[in-house]
Amino acid sequence: LVKMKSKTRTQNKYVNYTAEVVLKRVLKYVWKSKFMIICSLLFLIAYTFLELYQPKLINKMLDDHLLGVQTTWEKIDTAGVIYQGNNYQKIVIDKNTDISDKEIISIVYYEKKYYVLDGNVTTTAIISIDNDSNIATLTNNTTTFTKQLTSEELKAFYNPSIKPIVKLLIIYGSLTLVIIFFRFFQHVFFLFASMRLTLDIRKDAFDKLNRLPMKYFVNEPSGKIVTKITSDSEGVRGLYQVMFSIMTAAISLIMVYIALFKVNAKLSLLTLLATPFILLWMTVYRKANNKYHHRIREMNSVINAAMAQYVDGMEIIQQFNKEDAMTTEYDNLLITNYGNKMKALKINSLFGGELLLLIQNALLALVVYYFGLNFLNEESAITAGALYLYVTYINKVFDPIREIFADLNALEDAFVASSRIFDLLDQEEDKYLGFNERPVFEGDVKFEHVTFAYDEKPVLKDINMHVKKGQFIGLVGHTGSGKSTLMILLQRFYDLQEGVIKIDDIDFMNYTKQEVRSNIGYVLQEPALFSGTIKSNITLGIEATDEEVEKVLKLIGAEKFVNDYPKGINTELAYLGGNLSTGEKQLISFARILLRNPSILILDEATANIDTETEIMIQNALKVTVVGRTTFVVAHRLSTIRNADNIFVLDDGEIVEQGTHEELYNKNGKYRKMYEAQYNQNK
Ligand code: ATP
Ligand code: MG
Repeated sequence: LVKMKSKTRTQNKYVNYTAEVVLKRVLKYVWKSKFMIICSLLFLIAYTFLELYQPKLINKMLDDHLLGVQTTWEKIDTAGVIYQGNNYQKIVIDKNTDISDKEIISIVYYEKKYYVLDGNVTTTAIISIDNDSNIATLTNNTTTFTKQLTSEELKAFYNPSIKPIVKLLIIYGSLTLVIIFFRFFQHVFFLFASMRLTLDIRKDAFDKLNRLPMKYFVNEPSGKIVTKITSDSEGVRGLYQVMFSIMTAAISLIMVYIALFKVNAKLSLLTLLATPFILLWMTVYRKANNKYHHRIREMNSVINAAMAQYVDGMEIIQQFNKEDAMTTEYDNLLITNYGNKMKALKINSLFGGELLLLIQNALLALVVYYFGLNFLNEESAITAGALYLYVTYINKVFDPIREIFADLNALEDAFVASSRIFDLLDQEEDKYLGFNERPVFEGDVKFEHVTFAYDEKPVLKDINMHVKKGQFIGLVGHTGSGKSTLMILLQRFYDLQEGVIKIDDIDFMNYTKQEVRSNIGYVLQEPALFSGTIKSNITLGIEATDEEVEKVLKLIGAEKFVNDYPKGINTELAYLGGNLSTGEKQLISFARILLRNPSILILDEATANIDTETEIMIQNALKVTVVGRTTFVVAHRLSTIRNADNIFVLDDGEIVEQGTHEELYNKNGKYRKMYEAQYNQNK
């Protein structure tokens, strides 16, 4: 299987791992639940053994008891069955039995009636019976005395069997109960182990997310990450389940085969004849099936991505009246996938279970033929019970094979899913993480020769800035000039490529990322809110009383909007704060910062036009928040930074001008142009 997997692996562009590596890693996880898995396997072996023992009971019941009267009986002096005044008991006659001094009768079932014949006639067949003369003609051209048994007489012959039959039935029933019990525990242990596996994988994956650099989240769509952690972790479980069920199938296959071998070695070797057919079938089936399965899987991810995009862009879709077009597009994807699924289904029904059934039945026919031949050779006549045993065992051999085949498709998917999650777990982690002690920064910031590019295109070129403690700094520039990037670097969301950033004259690389961030307050263009209350969004894990939170809100002048809600700061926020305006979200970010009291503040102003009232609100909040902090304001509305101590003008990643508003205005350069453009617009 592993070899087979490696081959399909190369056809699949998602998988960066060999099947062996994936298996080993899944096993490592699985091994954590070794106790449960071993228990599960022990239960499996136990019930498989019992299930193999059960047909033997039936075999015994059939041969010795139910059909057991149809055999040879010898006349004895006392006890046994009384028939016509004589006592009889069963006797097994083979080649070595000397019956010359014994009086033997045989009971035979002929044309739906039971007859007693004189002598041993169980291995010869009857040609005819004459009920008037009580003479039976046999195939070896002899005749013998016969008499039809009355039902009373027949019952007498059956009588000794009743007790053992009841006993066998009770054993059979109890075994069934024990088997149910074992199966239950086998399943429970197995499921426990698999749930633990999903839990472990999800935990590790989520843990990993916290340690990944910002770059990962920019390049990987959020929907994909969510899929990885939710459904791909299920895929790992799927792999474990498939592996486990293949293993259980293999174990029961071996056990059944041993049982069959013990019953009849020749027959079990005969069963091996089916192996090449099964292997051939397996290859053809997989080849045909794989093709469509790959397509289906790829289509699935396309469909999911399309769905995520529609949901994210619903506002735009509706605004542009694109609903119908989008629906058609989506429908087409679904229909294509439906077609692929239909084709896969056809292959499944053609090569799937039916073909295996054919092989299985061919084998059974062969078995019957084999026994038929033996019967004619008079070598060893087969009893009904033995035939039952063989047929049951041969069918049992095929059950696990069928299971393995049913699992093959799931195996494929599980490998892909597992390799995806391992890919996540193997992503390079962010460096310089950790938190030892919160350093207290004064707030003096120096950028020295900072050059940076996200990819090939340089975004910042040789930036040099010195911002003194407590200064209010404005950053302006056309869109895409690198303002946000500069602030992102200060917070160490990306690692510097060239140059240094010093805080209080110490290279900030001397601190961990968390230590640096703990001293920086950041108000984003579109602040992120979390599900919870207004209060929990402001405290974000910091201990604070309601009064403290309300005080902060009042300070920045946000108490009005909060108090408009009947529940005040305990108002539940919608998903991502969807029920708040951008301005209100920013006010909440300001409150967050005041509560934390960092020495550096960054405000990345919203590009969206906000109404004058909100603007005044934010201006006021800003005024309160900046006190005593080094503040960077990325400004689109130049009025925001009119009073800045220093304004830096960025153009294509370079600082082209710097100075106060007055200085820059008088300089008559880029800043002046921008200012006048806005001024005229607002006139
Ligand atoms: P705006 O005024 O529109 O907010 P900005 O000055 O803040 O613009 P930045 O966000 O710093 O501009 O972007 C600077 C350049 O870097 C842009 O050309 C942008 O395309 C690119 N860029 C920004 N973020 C990334 C990223 N995560 N990966 C690759 N390139 C990026
Ligand atoms: Mg920006």
